[in-house]
Amino acid sequence: MKTWDIDPRIALRASADFDLAAFDRSSTPGWSHDKDDADKLLARRGRLLSELQERLYAAGRAGENRAVLCVVQGLDTAGKGGVARHVMGYVDPQGVALRSFGVPTEEELAHHYLWRIRKALPPAGRIGVFDRSHYEDVLVVRVDELVPPEVWQPRFEEINEFEAELTESGITVLKFAMMVSYEEQGLRLMERLDRPDKHWKYSPGDLKTRSKWFAYQEAYQDVLRRTNTDYAPWYVLPADRKWYPRLAITEILTRTLAELELAWPKADFDVAEQRRELARTMSAAALQQSIDATRDSMADALTDSLEVAELAASISGANLPSRDHEAEVAAQIDRVIKAKQQLRDAR
Ligand code: AMP
Ligand code: MG
Repeated sequence: MKTWDIDPRIALRASADFDLAAFDRSSTPGWSHDKDDADKLLARRGRLLSELQERLYAAGRAGENRAVLCVVQGLDTAGKGGVARHVMGYVDPQGVALRSFGVPTEEELAHHYLWRIRKALPPAGRIGVFDRSHYEDVLVVRVDELVPPEVWQPRFEEINEFEAELTESGITVLKFAMMVSYEEQGLRLMERLDRPDKHWKYSPGDLKTRSKWFAYQEAYQDVLRRTNTDYAPWYVLPADRKWYPRLAITEILTRTLAELELAWPKADFDVAEQRRELARTMSAAALQQSIDATRDSMADALTDSLEVAELAASISGANLPSRDHEAEVAAQIDRVIKAKQQLRDAR
């Protein structure tokens, strides 16, 4: 399996002197393989992501306060919606909270700009995805001069404080800036005009925004310089190849979740005792059926769990003694089968 040359969290992290103008939007930082290899890794990561998301959700149900927030920013056609749909495709819809932020409503405008953001934060156990965000309040708001500079300038600091507060409350904040080139944006907008099934994605206002390309680049440059904190880092994604941001965001999200060291919540009951009591209500034949199904019900789950633990360890650089997954899984299944056989024999 081909994989990353370096952790994309390092390859894509905006540095203090990051220069957006020199950023190659068709590059694939950290990834020296092609799209087919990317698709293969993506499928495998998708499985892990799904398991990790379920663990996060379970932890939330068990009273832990952790959540993850992915802020996705980018100009029209950068692929924000595609990424959101893609990531969500891997996980249980219950576990994700997607929000898109458009032009503020009258009610929203009557409040502080963070008001609508706070209301949309992911609850414990959830992965929140923001398609646009509070960053529009220092992007479009600045470029279109919706408020004077005295109003938007202090927002960088205010946003940093806000995100620090989120982090302290248990939300891991990941910020993705999807950067498409001027040429590629032209091609994508043209495709939207060519295809009747894409007209709904187009708005004549998109050309007005495109005409302010350089003002937007400048505004993004400031965002990346001034709100790129260790606790809420910006990852800058070249977005001219559609598959790359998907691969990179999936990887960053998977690694971030793996590092949360999410264990399945411990049962707050005695499993063996519950099994005994349940067995008393079942016939010997039903118990035999359950014994036959043990492998199917346990094998994949146990294997996935070991894989998650291994990925988490490999990312954190821990030296895991090499383990024989198959033997470990088989031993656990055997134990359960033996317990159930005793219960069956007692019937
Ligand atoms: P779309 O993402 O294509 O649905 O478009 C949403 C539109 O809402 C974009 O043109 C954004 O610039 C605009 N928008 C989002 N947030 C704000 C904001 N805080 N103030 C003004 N316009 C905004
Ligand atoms: Mg749009």
